[in-house]
Amino acid sequence: MEVFICSNGNDGVARAVLHGGGIVMAVDGSDVLDEVFERFLKGTRIFGDREVLRHDYVPEKLPHREDQIRYLGEVTAPVLRGSRCSNIFIYGKTGTGKTAVVKYVLGRLASKARKLGAPVRVCYVNCRLAGTEYRVLSTLCNALRVDIPFTGLAVGEVFDRFKATMEARRLLFIAVLDEIDALIKERGDVLLYELTRINETLSYGRTSVVGISNDLRFKELLDPRVLSSLSEEEIVFRPYDASELQDILLDRAKLAFYDGVLSEGAVSLCAALAAAEHGDARRALDLLRVAGELAERGGAEVILEDHVRAAEKRIEHDRIAEALKNLTPHSKFVLCSVYLLGKAKVGCAITGDIYEIYRELCDYAGLTPLTQRRVSGLIDELDVIGLLNTRVVSLGRYGRTKKIRLGIPRSLIREVFFGDDRIGRLIDYVPKCLAAISDSRS
Ligand code: ADP
Ligand code: MG
Repeated sequence: MEVFICSNGNDGVARAVLHGGGIVMAVDGSDVLDEVFERFLKGTRIFGDREVLRHDYVPEKLPHREDQIRYLGEVTAPVLRGSRCSNIFIYGKTGTGKTAVVKYVLGRLASKARKLGAPVRVCYVNCRLAGTEYRVLSTLCNALRVDIPFTGLAVGEVFDRFKATMEARRLLFIAVLDEIDALIKERGDVLLYELTRINETLSYGRTSVVGISNDLRFKELLDPRVLSSLSEEEIVFRPYDASELQDILLDRAKLAFYDGVLSEGAVSLCAALAAAEHGDARRALDLLRVAGELAERGGAEVILEDHVRAAEKRIEHDRIAEALKNLTPHSKFVLCSVYLLGKAKVGCAITGDIYEIYRELCDYAGLTPLTQRRVSGLIDELDVIGLLNTRVVSLGRYGRTKKIRLGIPRSLIREVFFGDDRIGRLIDYVPKCLAAISDSRS
């Protein structure tokens, strides 16, 4: 949930606008908050430890991943005896435990190496979060205690410093590149190429790469030479089924909640919903966490199936709100045009209608409009992510046309766009061309 807090500055009244529940409170602060805090403190105790439901928490036990843990352990173990280990390519859909398993195994490997005094370094980088080759490489350098300025060096220079340090210290280095697909889609596979070739130019140091991808088609993006060096070993993470998810949830629930707080029905429902999606443990854990929060706020003693259903709605709401916020300005304008058409009771619009409104909105807001062809492309993209629904209908001998309507509740568009600087004032705008369109449709 997004919370915007602002003050109007002259009467000392703080306004809290809560997007999500759609509540707008204008309050004189303390009384209401005292009540909220007291109610929380006196309320039922649901969470023993919230932290264990965070996405980046790595549990001690990872049920149903014993095979992958063992295999990854076997493949990486040679570094304990001074040999480089094979490069490994790991793939599977989101929430199948790739990150957790790799962090767990390599964490254990690093501590074993420390005990033995073996010259092993492991460095984990999330490439999507790092965003650029420069940042990925500087994270690898930081793991060797080589400081790299935030910007300013050429990528090649950073790479040379990395190589020189490994060589001087005669290290066995394992670079874990998580969500590598995101980096490669944006920037190509040069970094991966260089990293998988690095050993050819070193005499003492050695590097192994563990590449992790959420996208199963990622292999197609790689140069065949890069692919063959990266996948000296491959590990596939398949989706969890409902009963596996249930085991994972039960283990985690023991740490997260007080005894007796979680009903059996609620756990099963979280597992079933996440299994129906794509066997995503993250989704299952999110459902559990949000259900717990809703139960806590509602003063319930036990987390029930109804809390899970409400949690599902809340998560879906937040997911759509996030997607809406991240659209480009032009896509927002297109969506807003469909919204305004719907508001004027033109339920199923055609591209031409949308384009007319879109152009008027651009004019009004001082944005240069795109061509109708580009807008038509944006409509297709919005359809793919479910924000619009399009349907091709036959007009008999007049050919075919595409009917377009919103794919999400109108209230949600209003709620999210209302808080957007640029689009907020368009939500209540009445386009001049609307009357003509309405007439032609009736
Ligand atoms: P991926 O990297 O494949 O997207 P993650 O490793 O991030 O998935 O897992 C998502 C969430 O589910 C994490 O919070 C992780 O701790 C949890 N998780 C995944 N698999 C297991 C498992 N077998 N046992 C316990 N927790 C798991
Ligand atoms: Mg991951």
